[in-house]
Amino acid sequence: MFIVFKGVSLIKLSKRQDEILQIVKQNGPITGKEIAEKLSVTRAALRPDLAILTMSGNLDARPRVGYFFNDKLAVKQKAKKFIQQKVSDFKAHPIVVEKSTSVYNAIVQLFLEDVGTLYAVDSEGCLAGVISRKDLLRAALGNKNLQELPVSVIMTRMPNIITIHPDETLLEAAKKMINYHVDSLPVVTEAGDRGSTYLLLGRITKTTITRAYVEFMDENSN
Ligand code: ADP
Repeated sequence: MFIVFKGVSLIKLSKRQDEILQIVKQNGPITGKEIAEKLSVTRAALRPDLAILTMSGNLDARPRVGYFFNDKLAVKQKAKKFIQQKVSDFKAHPIVVEKSTSVYNAIVQLFLEDVGTLYAVDSEGCLAGVISRKDLLRAALGNKNLQELPVSVIMTRMPNIITIHPDETLLEAAKKMINYHVDSLPVVTEAGDRGSTYLLLGRITKTTITRAYVEFMDENSN
């Protein structure tokens, strides 16, 4: 564990300081004397560690009550950990069609893969377009011959696609989806020699964010 000040990790806690935190977490409020007894040391020997832990905000102290764990800081640390989670750790496999695929086949693919969005790629596997449920519904409304109509005609294409890089955070992904009113983001990396083209690595969807939230809360809400 680290000492955290204003949300920034500063110093790694010593073994003793970690022990004190655990004792206070489990037994607080608890007096300095009681902590010392549990660790079989003198009260004086503990004083510098207790001073560090209270100054850094990990512990709070109240006269005649004792030391107790600072829940607010713990929550803040957990929240920080949550929002720093990386896209690379959560991205799902992208469901891809060639941009020459017919709208009919894209609709079938959508059902088979049980997804809301398909990504179109060019012959070199670079991201070319996004095809959402509504794009397909719109195309189906006015067209009889969906087997002849390629998705390239109806998709949202580059450079209008909002993408996310694997090193960005889940929070950044969530913000982009909210701000641009889209349900998913292709996770991409620059395709090196091909200018403004992107290699498709995965996808992040609103479901990804919801799942991460639920997992995190299950692990941390006690
Ligand atoms: P739906 O159309 O099923 O509600 P979206 O809200 O994701 O799904 O899509 C709305 C529109 O935005 C569609 O025309 C789709 O092609 C486009 N779109 C979806 N995702 C993106 C994205 N990441 N970047 C740019 N446009 C997108």
